[in-house]
Amino acid sequence: MKKPRIYMDYNATAPLLPQAREAMEEALALPGNPSSVHAEGRAARAVMDKARRQVAALAGASAACVTFTSGATEAAATVLTPHYKMGKADLAVSHLYVPAVEHPCILAGGRFGPEQITKLAVDSQGLVDLVALKTRLEDHDAASGLALVAIQLANNETGVLQPVAEAAAIIKEHGGILVVDAVQAGGRLAVDISALGADFLLLSSHKIGGPKGIGAVVSAGEIMMPVPLIPGGGQERGHRSGTESPAAAAGFGAAAEQALNDLEANARKIAADRDRLEAGIRQMAPDCIIHAGESPRLINTTFFSLPGLKAETAQIAFDLEGIAVSAGSACSSGKVGPSHVLAAMGKDADLGGIRVSIGLETSDAELTEFLRVFGKINEKRDKNRKEKTALV
Ligand code: PLP
Repeated sequence: MKKPRIYMDYNATAPLLPQAREAMEEALALPGNPSSVHAEGRAARAVMDKARRQVAALAGASAACVTFTSGATEAAATVLTPHYKMGKADLAVSHLYVPAVEHPCILAGGRFGPEQITKLAVDSQGLVDLVALKTRLEDHDAASGLALVAIQLANNETGVLQPVAEAAAIIKEHGGILVVDAVQAGGRLAVDISALGADFLLLSSHKIGGPKGIGAVVSAGEIMMPVPLIPGGGQERGHRSGTESPAAAAGFGAAAEQALNDLEANARKIAADRDRLEAGIRQMAPDCIIHAGESPRLINTTFFSLPGLKAETAQIAFDLEGIAVSAGSACSSGKVGPSHVLAAMGKDADLGGIRVSIGLETSDAELTEFLRVFGKINEKRDKNRKEKTALV
């Protein structure tokens, strides 16, 4: 009998939750367009409204502040723009500041030109340098427009949690706008847009067990908004045109609601599993480098390097043994390049890192099997290294 595969790549995408699938199937049966005023349209609109409330709860925001997009990448492209509106008035933003470890959809800078983007340094633990942020904002030419800062709440490779609330205080002091990429944090830890001091928060459905292809911009209020990236029929209160997908929104909403149920108890279970995994890795390979091990981190993520073994080679070995882990982020069209996150942390980006990201569904038996395979890969690494040393 074929061995069942073990999925440990939740930060790339999480498996679809049954509750999300069910909500999507119900919504797919509705024929109406949410913008139509007849009964069929109103039924589709009701699905959108419910999903909006569920997703808003994920960010501690009000439903009116949720704009659905095709994913967090589009959400980033929407808010990263020099063109804002404050009510009906234009509001100019002249420069974007981003930590060097951000996701590529943030580093791409949206509608800012490359000369309008400044990268901020991080330390060896992956934490943004708040002193550098303060200095940059002090030097910012306010006469040319406001400063926009985008900081992720949790890193997709290392899981490092950035000191967003501290950064927000600095940004507010300098009259800047704060965008927080909460894609990896939403649904894994309690997120509250006001407590974070963020003006905008970005979310993605597929990281929390909803369908792929939907995300959201959550705003702190309704007055200051970016000029739409996609103008047209005026859906999503004019902030993002195009007929909405009630099925995708329903799946996102159901996944958000599920994530918030027993959030703390679930987080404790996942954290204990991750700690078991790391203890096993450390015991078998004392020279293994667990990146950002000293930083506050996401409860489900471990990102490590094994000296002498390229992450890509290890990933293939895990895959052949039936275990899906990642070597770097999954967004680069199947190609694994050197990790910009490790490079920014001053680590050996060519050796790369192996990212194991688990979820609530990860079982004890799967952890045991992971550790068995890790032991096998590690033994082979030791043997290869001894042979190489013997040859020298
Ligand atoms: N931000 C982070 C931190 C991510 O991990 C990802 C996905 O990998 C994104 C943004 C992009 O999200 P989406 O796949 O919804 O475009």
